[in-house]
Amino acid sequence: MRRAAIFLAAAAALSCAPRASGPAAADANAFLDNANATTLRLGVESNRAGWVQQTYITDDTETLSAHANQATNDAGARFAKEATRFDRVEVPPDQRRELTLLKVGLVVATPSDAKESSELSTIMARLESAYGKGKWCPDPSKPDTCKTIDDVTRIMATSRKEPELRAAWEGWHTVGPPMRADYSRFVQLSNKGAKELGFPDTGAMWRSKYDMPPDAFMRELDRLWEQVRPLYLKLHAYARLKLRERYGDLVPANGPIPAHLLGNIWAQDWSNIYPLVAPPNADPGYSLTDILKKKNVAPLDMVRIGERFYTSLGFAALPKTFWDRSLFVRPRDRDVVCHSSAWDIDLESDVRIKMCIEQTAEDFTTIHHELGHNFYQRAYKDQPALFRDSANDGFHEAIGDTIALSVTPEYLVKIGLLDKATDASRDTGLLMSRALDKIAFLPFGLLIDQWRWKVFSGEITPATYNKAWWDLRLKYQGVAPPAPRDEAFFDPGAKYHVPDNTPYTRYFLADIYQFQFHRALSQIAGCTLPLHRCSIYDSKAAGQRLNAMLSMGQSHPWPEALEALTGTKQMDATAILDYFAPLSKWLDEELKGKPIGW
Ligand SMILES: [Zn+2]
Repeated sequence: MRRAAIFLAAAAALSCAPRASGPAAADANAFLDNANATTLRLGVESNRAGWVQQTYITDDTETLSAHANQATNDAGARFAKEATRFDRVEVPPDQRRELTLLKVGLVVATPSDAKESSELSTIMARLESAYGKGKWCPDPSKPDTCKTIDDVTRIMATSRKEPELRAAWEGWHTVGPPMRADYSRFVQLSNKGAKELGFPDTGAMWRSKYDMPPDAFMRELDRLWEQVRPLYLKLHAYARLKLRERYGDLVPANGPIPAHLLGNIWAQDWSNIYPLVAPPNADPGYSLTDILKKKNVAPLDMVRIGERFYTSLGFAALPKTFWDRSLFVRPRDRDVVCHSSAWDIDLESDVRIKMCIEQTAEDFTTIHHELGHNFYQRAYKDQPALFRDSANDGFHEAIGDTIALSVTPEYLVKIGLLDKATDASRDTGLLMSRALDKIAFLPFGLLIDQWRWKVFSGEITPATYNKAWWDLRLKYQGVAPPAPRDEAFFDPGAKYHVPDNTPYTRYFLADIYQFQFHRALSQIAGCTLPLHRCSIYDSKAAGQRLNAMLSMGQSHPWPEALEALTGTKQMDATAILDYFAPLSKWLDEELKGKPIGW
């Protein structure tokens, strides 16, 4: 993930840009100069406070960081509102884009009424901490046996005992009901703020970030989903078949899969059930985790390998400050937030990652993901500060994952980690494990905001919060709860991004983009192997095209950035179908005469 950037960056550089003339236009100039300077200053302060807080957790650093964030958010809300004053003023295109970015950059718009604004802040903090402090207590008389989300995650990942899985699943979902009343009030108040900015509701405000009318954007998402849905259905059918072999009639032959049997509390990543669905004789023949351990590749060396991938494409090496200031391993003497993240502290060159690296294949991939953020940040650093962000929020998450798709057996041979690339007969296993992660996620990545957008628009009311949630999970994912769930529950609250109010569509987009980027870059690199065996390592031509897109930042609408890399302005999920073609063919054979769908 990337640490939430400040809602906009500012800039001395901007004041050098030509500005329009005329009284109203002059006001716009002054407004943008002030907005830029203020938000840059506040943003850097909140980055520094956030970095210290996450790498040195104390009551004091938490207070300092919360204080800095509050100042940034308040300024963001103020500028978003003031920007609407220039809706009908004629200004040059770059300024129009700046004003628009100011208006659509907010995740929540606070109402101008002071009492309502403070009520909204209080509710949001309460929802977040309800989740953060959420626990499942199987025996309330013994508080020290209560389970956190980490404990629940471990049980879901490793247990194969249905009663144990069901208890953990139902246990974690007890965190939801106390959030229900707060959530519906949050919806009312945040909608009020969005209306004041000229949006019909908060969901419409979120969708307006995508450089096209909100309805057109929704149709685009539907189109992408329809492209990949047939492949998802096959993966679902095969997983159901295998789970049925394991759990018997608890798993219906042609109905939805019980949501608690897929190895993950939200059934959003099925990697953990790989041992149950592994194709026969498809052992990849090597384990990257074992290689890293056997060769004793130290955490810092793992990062250097990641950096070398990017420099092989022609990107400049990371600055010395990256190595001096990043956090690479868990410190012995203090509490830190180990969840991986990438930072751009001064929005110039002070990029860093924060990880607690272990010698595992998973962390090896995560390093490539986080560095993707850092190389993106450096690529757009010469843009006016307002444009120093990704083309849309899906792009930032997709870059590092695109590079990670190039970590193929052939690549590992090239860099001396593997002696000999495995032959194609092993590919089904590699592709299956990747599909359980990337394909299984797609419907989940889509439905979170399908639910929220309808909640914000009023199409889903509090009286049907939970029913609508499960209708969508059935429609998209083909999963069902272990037992009927009525409106006494509030199951969306058991997913972090709902109480935390983080938009989710970006993750669906990133999942699509990374394959589209990978296919385009592989073609540019001249790869003639099957797509899943292509690595763009060492291709300066691919690097140049990647940089052409990254260096644009968000100075242009995202379709233009997409075109700079892929040659097309259209999002296209068919790269996923190309990538998984051998697995898809194999599934067709395995599923002959078997039920598909639910
Ligand atoms: Zn990320």
